[in-house]
Amino acid sequence: MQGFTFPGIRTRVVFGSGTLARVGAEVEALGRSRALVLSTPPQAESAAALAKDLGALSAGTFTGAAMHTPLDVTEAAMEAYRSTGADCVVSYGGGSTIGLGKAIATRTGADHVAIPTTYAGSEMTDILGETVDGEKTTRRDASIRPETVIYDVDTTLTLPVEMTVTSSLNAISHGIEALYAEDRNPILSQMAVEAMRVFKRSLHRVTEDPQDRAARTDVLYGAWLCSTALGYVSMALHHKLAHVIGGSFGMPHAETHAILLPHTTGFNAAATQDLLAPVAEIFGGSVGGGLWDFAKGAGAPLRLRDLGLSEADMDRAAEIATRAPYPNPRPFDRSDIRTLLQAAWEGTRPQ
Ligand code: NAD
Repeated sequence: MQGFTFPGIRTRVVFGSGTLARVGAEVEALGRSRALVLSTPPQAESAAALAKDLGALSAGTFTGAAMHTPLDVTEAAMEAYRSTGADCVVSYGGGSTIGLGKAIATRTGADHVAIPTTYAGSEMTDILGETVDGEKTTRRDASIRPETVIYDVDTTLTLPVEMTVTSSLNAISHGIEALYAEDRNPILSQMAVEAMRVFKRSLHRVTEDPQDRAARTDVLYGAWLCSTALGYVSMALHHKLAHVIGGSFGMPHAETHAILLPHTTGFNAAATQDLLAPVAEIFGGSVGGGLWDFAKGAGAPLRLRDLGLSEADMDRAAEIATRAPYPNPRPFDRSDIRTLLQAAWEGTRPQ
């Protein structure tokens, strides 16, 4: 084993069913008394219900969160934060809403209680991606990490099956890149492997019955494990490519991750057989092939072309993704990435 630094896990986590009832107590435990509740427009009703439950602890709602944290939305939310006299934010939703909570927290010093309702995994991280004039930039900073995360499995029962599958593969991608991260450590690696076992065991039970609370609990637990891994180690080729395709071509976040994952993992497996051995053991077959079979079996999208990406877009994506160097266990050049993207575009099974 190589030497390592374990940075600790800094976020307080409340996990279970019915835990939404604990939001007020968690706000008070932070010494705060006026929470602005955030959501996307489709989750506005749930945000309003949560604000109502919070009673005097609620400063109101802002329900305009949008994918990739556009600056104009953040500015409107900041105005709501100031005008309501809020002293903390409660984000109720997926990565888009949690991103907005982070954007407010890092600008104001507000405490942030995050309630994730997808498996994307923003909640445990110090990472924020923001979009200005269509350009997405990502940064890491301690002020971005939420103070408290409340997982309530009941909030995930409404997550549509397609999103459940793609969001789970998005979560698994964090776990996989944690296994070969250059700053990996054995605690997070164990969490990542445990998460993959959980997804393998329980994702199909959720797709068969989305109301299966026990299976949903398992999957949400896997999402927490993967979010924690994402929050404390560096990501590599997979996240870079997903960021380029999502950010520069407007492709949907979870689907893009889901389609790329077997291909990026298969590519890196050539240099990390030992580190990725648990992935092959859990999903079966070769690393990339086993993940592709798992994704197909769960009903995930398999082809970038189905998201509307053109072959010319992929030339550009390969060029953007190889412009600046970043750590990855297997060296690559533009033509390697173009070949990988072609396979993901056509949806072929990695060997
Ligand atoms: P999302 O937050 O955009 O949610 C997608 C849609 O699903 C929204 O309309 C939302 O209202 C709806 N939804 C969410 N939960 C639901 C539920 N339980 N029931 C019914 N509908 C529900 O999508 P996402 O994939 O969770 O997040 C993607 C965004 O998060 C991207 O911008 C990505 O960059 C960011 N992200 C950031 C990090 C980080 O660490 N900074 C990590 C992961 C993702």
